[in-house]
Amino acid sequence: FYERTPEQQASLGYLVDSAQAEGTHVDAPGGGEAVTTDQVRREPHGSVGATAGHRAIAQSNSAEIAEALFRYTAPEEVMTFPSTCGACAASCETRMFVTNIPYFQEVIVMASTCDACGYRNSELKPGGRIPEKGKIITLSVKNVNDLSRDVIKSDTASVKVPEVDLELASGTLGGIVTTVEGLITRISESLERVHGFTFGDSLDENSRSKWIDFKARLNKLLSLEEPWTLILDDALANSFVAPATDDLKEDNQLAFEDYERSWEQNEELGLNDMDTSSAEVGDAPTNTSKTE
Ligand SMILES: [Zn+2]
Repeated sequence: FYERTPEQQASLGYLVDSAQAEGTHVDAPGGGEAVTTDQVRREPHGSVGATAGHRAIAQSNSAEIAEALFRYTAPEEVMTFPSTCGACAASCETRMFVTNIPYFQEVIVMASTCDACGYRNSELKPGGRIPEKGKIITLSVKNVNDLSRDVIKSDTASVKVPEVDLELASGTLGGIVTTVEGLITRISESLERVHGFTFGDSLDENSRSKWIDFKARLNKLLSLEEPWTLILDDALANSFVAPATDDLKEDNQLAFEDYERSWEQNEELGLNDMDTSSAEVGDAPTNTSKTE
């Protein structure tokens, strides 16, 4: 059994809260967890602020996240607990496991499948502590294999492709587990929705042709007419691009670079006000047990 970190406690705490809301009581013995409980109370799911570090890296209404990660790692221990289907409210089972992705970090995967309606859901959360540094991932995209590299783009990551002047601010698209090709496609589709709406009844032919031109350039990225660069800048280092080689050092198209976050970045993430003294509390061994 592993020792849970405060972040993990918090993510479990989130489950405790939602389970209680459904009328199921989940007790976390071990006592003295007042700090953790407090944190959970202040952490409505998906809110901004000090919760940024605990927020899900990616979520999906399918099992694609879990399936993508199984390529890298087999979970040592899978915990299952009863939950409620997000689509039809039938009772179902959620599987949770902690796993380490090489060259990335420890992550918590929660996946559920509903036997009643077939709804599948999975969520990826950061395990361990909030990384002290931000990370810039730079990938030189040259061939078809690069397009199929796995990508985890967290909500806090910005995306840049300098060759086509593409800049996507953090917070756009949410957190997704995809591939290089999938990421560009998602960006294109999401821009299409925005611009399709804007230009639907518009007489502004100039803006319209600019968008059509830009969309063509995005498509060219996928046809690999010229090499291009994908840059993910994640202030919480929760993003990942898969190396093409077993040893990252041999992959000379991929570079990871750590950087110190600025005070402003920490402020934006709500990390400046965080009480780090609670970091020592989570070491008490706790088992999550269920009572009806
Ligand atoms: Zn269901």
